[in-house]
Amino acid sequence: MTVAKETAELLAKLGVDKAVLSGGDLQVRSPVTGEVIASLKQMSAAEAGKAVDAAHEAFKAWRLVPGPKRGELVRLLGEELRAHKTELGRLVSIEVGKIPSEGLGEVQEMIDICDFAVGLSRQLYGLTIATERPGHRMMETWHPLGVIGVISAFNFPVAVWSWNSALALVCGDSVVWKPSEKTPLTALACEAIFARAVKRFGADAPNDLLKVLIGDRAVGEVLVDHPKVPLVSATGSTRMGREVGPRLAKRFARAVLELGGNNAGIVTPTADLDMALRAIAFGAMGTAGQRCTTLRRLIVHESVYDQLVPRLKKAYESVSVGNPLEGKALVGPLIDKAAFDGMQKALKEAEAHGGKVTGGARVENGHPDAYYVHPALVEMPSQVSPVTEETFAPILYVMKYKDFDEALDLHNAVGAGLSSSIFTRDIMESERFLSAEGSDCGIANVNIGTSGAEIGGAFGGEKETGGGRESGSDAWKAYMRRATNTVNYSTALPLAQGVSFDI
Ligand code: NAD
Repeated sequence: MTVAKETAELLAKLGVDKAVLSGGDLQVRSPVTGEVIASLKQMSAAEAGKAVDAAHEAFKAWRLVPGPKRGELVRLLGEELRAHKTELGRLVSIEVGKIPSEGLGEVQEMIDICDFAVGLSRQLYGLTIATERPGHRMMETWHPLGVIGVISAFNFPVAVWSWNSALALVCGDSVVWKPSEKTPLTALACEAIFARAVKRFGADAPNDLLKVLIGDRAVGEVLVDHPKVPLVSATGSTRMGREVGPRLAKRFARAVLELGGNNAGIVTPTADLDMALRAIAFGAMGTAGQRCTTLRRLIVHESVYDQLVPRLKKAYESVSVGNPLEGKALVGPLIDKAAFDGMQKALKEAEAHGGKVTGGARVENGHPDAYYVHPALVEMPSQVSPVTEETFAPILYVMKYKDFDEALDLHNAVGAGLSSSIFTRDIMESERFLSAEGSDCGIANVNIGTSGAEIGGAFGGEKETGGGRESGSDAWKAYMRRATNTVNYSTALPLAQGVSFDI
């Protein structure tokens, strides 16, 4: 069966109307074979604006439904995702090129955040605060915020939507989602799955709680500029964030920016090298290097360099690259030709700066429009461009260090600040890495790689990664507005700070 045929069958099983999959000018390709698997109609700016207006009407009704009841809708969404995990996971593999366990893992992440949000729906609480005035009570209340705009990247085509939407929905918000133009089919599948949850929930769920906007960045810009969207959660490149951030600031809208990473790991003299090797291999080569948390820089102490790096090179040479749908390869394709060209350009530049490259060549598989590549390991004499920038492909730059301060300096000397890790059995080193003078990233791990975060923690990074936090911990607060309430239950009117104003 062709990939296009399998895609059509999966979409039908997931409940997507066949009519929307053809006749448009947005060609969707599977990176697995490079073939066109659908041609969707893109939305006009006017249609996108209308979708936001409709979602705003939905918000006005949804905000009045009690939080725990809103949680019930997300519980049903989690049930629907459990029931359709196999099909949706497979579709992720087809549309992004992820190996089966990673496609399924992405759907599991959606289920996990639904479970988290259901519990959260009974815990949207504020503080009661001591007041200086007698006969008064001061407290804070959290209210729904409005329409939440979600702009997502190709590499986590559905999980990012669920991180934002599960929280937004229990917080009493509606959602308008602009998925990547490279991965709109999984978005249509989520829309259909969500529609089933809404149907089971019944009449208390208004229409238009979720709207999906199909199109490229021009459609995303409608969300960014729309006055009825008080928060846009935008995931993608730092370039995209530089455009979206100032536009949101201009109209005083909130931004949750989840941008590029240039994540590093430090391997110290006391590291368990067997464990480090496995973590590095998954972090650097997994998802074909196309995770925002992919390990891109490895900073290795000179005393263990010659033990670790030859073993790593062997792992690079032996890793299986190939068709992810056949279930044997560990590394699938790059998303497209531009990603392949970007990788080759970075490798050439690295060589020009003295880098020694292992791997990096294209793997032919009989599909001229599919871009499979051997992951590349590059030994670099120093941390210069292209090491300092994110290239969204499987390239791991390896550098040596002598003392721990030098390793920390190298670690923090790049623009991005998403994820980081250290491999050590020395408690002083690990604690320093996690301390105020250590890693400057939003995620800092010990004896674990940089990728594969759980949903329970807040996810996001600093500096050019944008500063946003989504998913677990108290990330929900971004999706609500806080009101401080002071109630006077006395017969006097004492003013704060002892001010008197007697008339
Ligand atoms: P991209 O920036 O090309 O596109 C991301 C999304 O933004 C797409 O939906 C696109 O249409 C939209 N977009 C682009 N410019 C826009 C604009 N001016 N206004 C409104 N919308 C706009 O990114 P990509 O290639 O899809 O994804 C890869 C990048 O995403 C990498 O840099 C990766 O590190 C990053 N990423 C970050 C995280 C995170 O949580 N920090 C997660 C996944 C991916």
